[in-house]
Amino acid sequence: MRLNQSLSLFSCFIVLSLILGILALLALPLPQSDDYPWTPSQEFQALEKKFKAAISPDHLRSFLKALTAEPHPPGSPGDRNVEDYIYTQMKSFGLEPQWNGYEVLLSSQVSSHLELTYPTREVLDIYEGIIPEDPFSKRTKEFPAWSVYGASGEAEGEVVYANFGTASDFERLKKLGVDLKGTIVLMRNYKGERGGKIMRAQETGAAGALFFSDPLDDGYFWGDVYPEGPWRPMSGFQRGMVNFNPLPGDQQTPGWASKKGAERILIDRLEGLPHIPSLPISAREARKLLEKMTGYTVPWQWNGAMGFTYRTGPGPARVRIKTETKLEVKPIRNIVTFIEGSQFPDQWILLGNHHDAHMFGGGDPNSGTAVQLEFSRILGSWIKQGWRPQRSILINSWCAEEYGLIGSTEWVEEHADAVRDKVVVNFNMDSAIFNIDTPLYITASPTLIPLIQQTVTGLRDPRSGRPFADVWLEQQYEYSNWFSSLGHGWQIMPGEKRYTKPKIDPLPDIDDNMPFYYHLVVPGTDMFYGTDYGMYHSVYENYHWIAEHMDPSFEYHRLMTMILGLLALRVADDDYIPFDYVNYALYVERALEQLEQELPDDFRTEFIGLRELCREWIYTAGRVQRRLMQPPFLDISARGEINSIWYRMERAFFHEDGLPGNPWFKNLFAGPAVLSEPETKILPGLQIALRTKDLKLWKEQTEIYKHLLKRLIDDSRLVLKKLQKS
Ligand SMILES: [Zn+2]
Repeated sequence: MRLNQSLSLFSCFIVLSLILGILALLALPLPQSDDYPWTPSQEFQALEKKFKAAISPDHLRSFLKALTAEPHPPGSPGDRNVEDYIYTQMKSFGLEPQWNGYEVLLSSQVSSHLELTYPTREVLDIYEGIIPEDPFSKRTKEFPAWSVYGASGEAEGEVVYANFGTASDFERLKKLGVDLKGTIVLMRNYKGERGGKIMRAQETGAAGALFFSDPLDDGYFWGDVYPEGPWRPMSGFQRGMVNFNPLPGDQQTPGWASKKGAERILIDRLEGLPHIPSLPISAREARKLLEKMTGYTVPWQWNGAMGFTYRTGPGPARVRIKTETKLEVKPIRNIVTFIEGSQFPDQWILLGNHHDAHMFGGGDPNSGTAVQLEFSRILGSWIKQGWRPQRSILINSWCAEEYGLIGSTEWVEEHADAVRDKVVVNFNMDSAIFNIDTPLYITASPTLIPLIQQTVTGLRDPRSGRPFADVWLEQQYEYSNWFSSLGHGWQIMPGEKRYTKPKIDPLPDIDDNMPFYYHLVVPGTDMFYGTDYGMYHSVYENYHWIAEHMDPSFEYHRLMTMILGLLALRVADDDYIPFDYVNYALYVERALEQLEQELPDDFRTEFIGLRELCREWIYTAGRVQRRLMQPPFLDISARGEINSIWYRMERAFFHEDGLPGNPWFKNLFAGPAVLSEPETKILPGLQIALRTKDLKLWKEQTEIYKHLLKRLIDDSRLVLKKLQKS
C-alpha cells in the first residue's frame, strides 16, 4: 500500500485506524461468538479483585505530571529524562528494566519561516497561541511549526487550496484546470497521511505545502475549544511527520535492526523523503490565506467552517516558505522489563506504550505511560511478596514512535524469531485518555474481542457509578454512524439489530502494534478513551489540559488501568489462554461470503471449498471452546502444550512471502488490499487477486488460503484430542 505512499502508517496511529476501522466495520456486521465467555478460574477472580483495589489515582497523577514536564521528541534531552524517569521508577517498583538501544535516523528542526507576500506583506505566525491559564502554552515561542523529516528549502508561490490532498482531490483540481506548477498547496489534515499528501503535491510540480486543521474537522464546529472544551483553538496546529517511506522503523535499515555498526542505506538513496518544503499552520493563519483567494468556487464538500466559501486559487494570495531541518543518526532507547513467568516462562504477554511525544505528551502517549507505570507498580509490589504470573510479562516502553514506529519495529526486527515463537499477545496502549465525552475506542484482533467484552462487564463508569459497559454502549449509540476526523466511529448496518455488547474494531490499530500484527501476526489491541479530540500533537496536549479539564480526578486513568491490567493478567495468569477462534473464524466467513458475491465466473472454480473449510474450522474451534468452558484438570505440561498450540494458531495467517507485491505485510487475515489506496481489508491476498483480475494469482492465493484453513482445522483437532484424552 505504501509503495505509492498514500498510506500513513505511523503518525501515531491515528489516521490509519480511520482506514482500518471504518472499512472493517463497514464490511462486517460484527459477528459474535456464542461459545464465549468461559469464566476465569477462582484464583484469577481473587487476583482481579486485588488488582482493582490496588490502583491509585494519586499515583497515576504523579506519574503523568513527571512524564510531561518537558517536551520530549525522539532523541531530545527531554526524552532522555523521560527514559531515565521510567527506568528509575521501574527499579523502584522492584522490577528489572533493561535498556534496549538502537541508532536511527532522526529529524530535527533548525528554522522555519512563513510569510504572506501578496496582496499584502505579513509575516505569518508559526507559533501556537498562549492560553493564559495554561502554563505549558507559555513556552510556545520555543517550539515553532516544522515538519518532521521535512525538506530544507525555500519556495514562493501562489496558494492553491486542495482540500484534504487526496488522490481524488488532486484529480478534481486537474479537471478544473488548476495549474499547480510552482504553487504552494494548502491542505487540510486528516483523511490520509501528510506524507501521501505532500508526495502528490510534489508530483504535480508544487513548490511547497502547508497543512492546517479546519475547525470543521477538530475545532469549534464540534464544541467548545480549549480551555473551555476539548477542541482545537484556532491558534493550534498539528505536528507530524511528512516522510512517505512505505515501511515503519528506521528508514536506513528496512527489515533489519539498526544496532550500532549495522549496514545503513545512504540518506540520498532514501525514497521517502520529500523534496519540497512544508509546514503545519494554525487555522487562524490558514484563514488569512483562504479569505484572500479567488479562482473556482470549491466543490461543496471542500468547504470548511470558517464562515465563507472557499476557493481553489491559484492566488492571488502568495506565500514564501523557508524551512531548515536536520537529519542525524542518533541513539534511541527502549526500556524493556521482563517479569519471568513461574510456569510457562516462554509464553510472553507484552504490554506496550511509547514514551516520546511531539510536545508534552499529556494525552498521546503519556496518559498511557502513566497507566503502564501504575500497572508495573502493582505487579512489583506483588512480586516483592513472592507472586509470579504463570506466563512471562514484558512491559515495553518504546522510543521514537512519533517518527515512524521506530523503537518497536527495530525491536521486532532484532527479535523476530522470539516474537513469532513466544509472544502470545501484544496489549498496546498508546494513549489512555483523549476525550471522556466521546466513547472509549478499542481495536483488537477478533480472537480477543469477546475477552475484552467480558472484561469490561464488571467495571463501573466513574461519573455515574453505573455499569461501565452500559454507559459505553450508550455513548457508542450516540456516536454511531458518525466518523470522527480521526476516523473512529461505529457503523450500524442497515437491518442490523440493536447490538448489546460494545463494538470493538476488529483490526489492530496502526501504532506500535503494526510490526507485531501486520508483519508477524501476533494478536494485539489498542485502546484510548475518546474517539476524537482537538489537541492532537499540539502544545495544548499537556498536563494542565488533562489534570484541570479532562480527568481531574484521574478516575478515567484508573478505569483504563483496570481494563488494560485485567486483560494482561487474565492472559498471563489464567490456566487457559482465553482466545476465541470462533469469533475470528466468523469474520473470515463473512469476508468469504462477501467475496463470493463479487466473483467473476472464471474465478469460481478455485473458490470452491474455501467456505466449507472455514465452516469446518468454526465447528472444530467451537468444540474446543465448549470443552474449555469446563476444562479438565490437567498437569502443567499438558496445559502448557495445549496453550502453546492455541495461542500460536493465529500464526497460520503468517505467510513468509507476504502479500502479493507487498512483502513486508505478512498477515493474510488483514492488510492493504490495493497498492495505490490506503485501504486495509480482511483476506487481503484474495482481495488483491480479485481486484487485479489476475487469474494466476487468484489460483495461487486460493491455494494458500485453503492450506492455512486446513492447518487451523488440524491445530484445533489436535487441541481437542489432547483435551479429550485427559
Ligand atoms: Zn502515540
